[in-house]
Amino acid sequence: MKALVMGGGMAGLCAATDLCDFGVEVQLLEATDILGGRATSWVDADGDTVDNALHIFMPHYCNCLGFLAKVGAEPLHWTQGITNYDERGRSGLLPIGGGARTVLEAMRSPTMSLIDQASLGLAVLTSALMSKEELDACDEITLLEWFKRHGVTRNAIAHFRPGGAGLTFLELNQVSAKALLYWTSSFINREYMLNPGIGFANGGLGEIYVEPARRYIEARGGKVETGRKVTGLLVRGNEVEGAVTGDGETVKADFYISAMPYYELRRVLPDEALDYPYFLDLWRLQEAPSVSVQIWFDRFVTRMRNIAAQIRGTFNCFADMHTIVPRLASKATGSMVEFVLTPAFHLRGLPAERIFKMTLEEFRRIMPAAREAEVRKWVVTRERQGIFAQRPGADRFRPPQRTPYPNLYLCGDYTKTFISAGMENACASAHLAVGHALYEHLGKEVTLFSRPTAYNEYLRKGLAAGTALGGAALAARFLRARGRKVTA
Ligand SMILES: Cc1cc2nc3c(=O)[nH]c(=O)nc-3n(C[C@H](O)[C@H](O)[C@H](O)COP(=O)(O)OP(=O)(O)OC[C@H]3O[C@@H](n4cnc5c(N)ncnc54)[C@H](O)[C@@H]3O)c2cc1C
Repeated sequence: MKALVMGGGMAGLCAATDLCDFGVEVQLLEATDILGGRATSWVDADGDTVDNALHIFMPHYCNCLGFLAKVGAEPLHWTQGITNYDERGRSGLLPIGGGARTVLEAMRSPTMSLIDQASLGLAVLTSALMSKEELDACDEITLLEWFKRHGVTRNAIAHFRPGGAGLTFLELNQVSAKALLYWTSSFINREYMLNPGIGFANGGLGEIYVEPARRYIEARGGKVETGRKVTGLLVRGNEVEGAVTGDGETVKADFYISAMPYYELRRVLPDEALDYPYFLDLWRLQEAPSVSVQIWFDRFVTRMRNIAAQIRGTFNCFADMHTIVPRLASKATGSMVEFVLTPAFHLRGLPAERIFKMTLEEFRRIMPAAREAEVRKWVVTRERQGIFAQRPGADRFRPPQRTPYPNLYLCGDYTKTFISAGMENACASAHLAVGHALYEHLGKEVTLFSRPTAYNEYLRKGLAAGTALGGAALAARFLRARGRKVTA
């Protein structure tokens, strides 16, 4: 049984390793010369690691972390919370992904009052108490609207904004509430209780998981071919019968898994595919672009131990990888700061030099030590689709992994699961696509997809029981007091 995987990003690599595990003959075609897609890195001529973009991992990424562990990727480095900087360079901790210690530290934040923090904390708790149906309904409104309805203060919203924009590449008044409430509701999971942190790859993503994944596939007889672009899908009757590549070859397999972004899939589908609303809906998805900047300084300009964010400005999240990531720190002689600039609709066409200058200027404003330092080198990277634009109403157009063609499956971070777009969904969707293919073509029933252990239901029941008990105690007290009054 042979499978063709089209696209060698995280989803394609994850799907290919799953297929190898079940003895399927795998051929993977990647259009570019580098595997890993958006989640990758390379080493430049000076021997420095260049990240395509700053990536963080969360404890509830059970599908993604399972994939990394399976291919033997180096364990992640876990950090605590997000440090928020205001325009005056004052900083305070937002305990996203943090444990009790970070919550206590956050309470001393000079930029956020206790009322701000309580309003945000209550909103997070409310999101964790929502049922699946309630969460789905949140796709109709923006997060800003949802926050306002739930009494989150203006200052708390301003503090949440950089993290939200860093995760979804949209402003809070543009992004579906569901897309971000998925993240906040995930904080009440067993995984967060065990590991309340934010994970960084201990080195470039290309080193820590891409090469191990390639080795994993090749060691099991799979073929990984870079620089081979799929340019068309041949369909006969209702089945895919081959994939045409840029060099004119037609590659055939028993089944096909597309791990390409949807805008590439749209280009390779034959016209007759548009007879299906399933494929037609791919044209409803939109991209949210991203810009990333990486700056190397001639000395250390931060003492960062975790990810940080700027409350207002061109870049939102940033991290000094040479002070945070142990493997890079061990040989570093100065800071290397990575910045995420999103939303990037207004930036994507600007010259790289201008983007770099804006970023450096803002960074020097909030980080005084950077004012004296020389810039050794800088790199600007852009992604046409940082992530698909999770605007209100877009969720219903995400395609599930099974397609109307019985031998074609889709995976990738834009495809439909209960998870918002990101690396966890890339891997979760790959597991689902392979699970369907193994069942339908090999008759094997396997569950590769895993869910984090959510405590949300316990919390809901606990709060309901607590409210009922409290109500009963109050009623008993009232009745006793009344009884005493009547006797007197
Ligand atoms: C700036 C930035 C920051 C991010 N930060 C985070 C983060 O902190 N946490 C997180 O979880 N996620 C983050 N993400 C998102 C994450 O990178 C993606 O969700 C994930 O990498 C998507 O993987 P994928 O395999 O679905 O798609 P991709 O990575 O896009 O892979 C698709 C692959 O298909 C290939 N391809 C395209 N067309 C063809 C063709 N015709 N033939 C063959 N191959 C083709 C592409 O070259 C690519 O390698 C970030 C993304 C960006 C851009």
